[in-house]
Amino acid sequence: MTDTATAQRHVPADLPDRICHYIDGAFVDSLDGGTFDVLDPVSNEVYVQAAAGKKADIEAAVHAARRAFADGPWPRLLPRERSRVLHRIADIVESRDARLAELESFDSGLPLTQALGQARRAAENFRFFADLVVAQADDTFKVPGRQINYVNRKPIGVAGLITPWNTPFMLESWKLAPALATGNTVVLKPAEFTPLSASLWAGIFEEAGLPRGVFNLVNGLGEEAGDALVKHPDVPLISFTGESRTGQIIFGNAAPYLKGLSMELGGKSPAVVFADADLDAAVDATIFGVFSLNGERCTAGSRILVQRDVYDEFVERYAAQAKRIRVGYPHDPATEVGALVHPEHYDKVMSYVEIGKTEGRLVAGGGRPEGFDEGNFVAPTVFADVSPDARIFQEEIFGPVVAITPFDTDEEALALANDTKYGLAAYVWTNDLKRAHNFSQAVEAGMVWLNSNNVRDLRTPFGGVKASGLGHEGGYRSIDFYTDQQAVHITL
Ligand code: NAD
Repeated sequence: MTDTATAQRHVPADLPDRICHYIDGAFVDSLDGGTFDVLDPVSNEVYVQAAAGKKADIEAAVHAARRAFADGPWPRLLPRERSRVLHRIADIVESRDARLAELESFDSGLPLTQALGQARRAAENFRFFADLVVAQADDTFKVPGRQINYVNRKPIGVAGLITPWNTPFMLESWKLAPALATGNTVVLKPAEFTPLSASLWAGIFEEAGLPRGVFNLVNGLGEEAGDALVKHPDVPLISFTGESRTGQIIFGNAAPYLKGLSMELGGKSPAVVFADADLDAAVDATIFGVFSLNGERCTAGSRILVQRDVYDEFVERYAAQAKRIRVGYPHDPATEVGALVHPEHYDKVMSYVEIGKTEGRLVAGGGRPEGFDEGNFVAPTVFADVSPDARIFQEEIFGPVVAITPFDTDEEALALANDTKYGLAAYVWTNDLKRAHNFSQAVEAGMVWLNSNNVRDLRTPFGGVKASGLGHEGGYRSIDFYTDQQAVHITL
């Protein structure tokens, strides 16, 4: 590292010596002693080794989770009793939000202030499902003099949770909270780029009183630990968040076992700006939509479609604002875009920046920001005049890179918005109420934000259509995924 990079790198105090699995209430190494390197994205130096789980480690974790499900108290507790534990988990996460943010920011390169927001959201996920599981009501029907029908809702067993490296702690909580609230036991396989924050769950859960064996964690590579979890016959559920390509592989591998699958996959979401929109708000929101969380956001509005009447003005203002975004070291509270998670991902994003230079008009960024010679830093990059057959229009880049494309009519905007294999989110900016609602109805997206972004009630469905996912999570949909609903019929 250069002297500047060394001076700027912030290494949190009390980092672990190594990152272990957590199986049946104990931190353990891999049975074969295998490990993998974990890098920090500012220096790209190895700062710790993590246990590399294989089939045998998954076997041990599933065995513990199965025993806790078959014989332990957790699935048999009243919802209110489980809810109390979940609220304690939320309390502990909240009380440690600053430390969580520090570690997450160090491990993933997310700006500290944004990592703090994600830690708080993780606590909220636990609080939300703690409340929801107590409020849960199920169908009961009576035909007078004939019959009564009601539903027994039951936890399913061992849930396999496989998560990505973007906002890792928060996304883990989005699966852990409903899986545990409903009485399942779990094996979590976090992303190999960012194992640090996941290792904190064990201590948090122990302190909150989660019984032994209910939560198990196996680190490792997707093709090894993740693959073994997907193919384990005693894991009836897999909740996966990650790339669409990985989702396809998992879908195939789970098929022989007919597992329950929830798939939250990639995106290339359009943000559509009509000429009648509040342009100030649209520029601010679409900047946030693609450059917050380093652009490593599944719902990023990474294709901006702008009506031709305001196109030139929009592009000019957008490029000027993108150039003002503060790229910086992740631990600096003033930083708005930090370092991308890993050199492999950095290379992928940079390759798209180069492709973009042949496919569009570069109006901001286009490489490393000045003053950052090392680490995974990319200047917020904006390409205008991008045609729909361009790779940067079609493919998920998952970094601070955006493509802007003009359109003339509502019909053309809709055709462009739907012209990718993905269908996760869409953003619409217009002051015409009818157009906003009609466009929402027609656009192929699991979620639509009208004149807004980054607001979401956790009771609403979260998920995508087309290559962006299968099934929905959020509110009762998560409860449904993690439970069996047995119908009981009685003749009167
Ligand atoms: P990824 O698919 O490479 O990896 C995700 C997880 O799957 C990791 O834990 C990985 O180890 C594991 N894995 C990889 N191959 C596997 C296999 N063969 N079997 C079992 N597990 C395997 O994704 P990533 O690069 O970590 O994350 C970025 C992607 O996630 C982007 O496409 C992004 O859009 C998507 N994402 C989607 C959502 C959503 O809610 N829709 C949210 C966040 C991220």
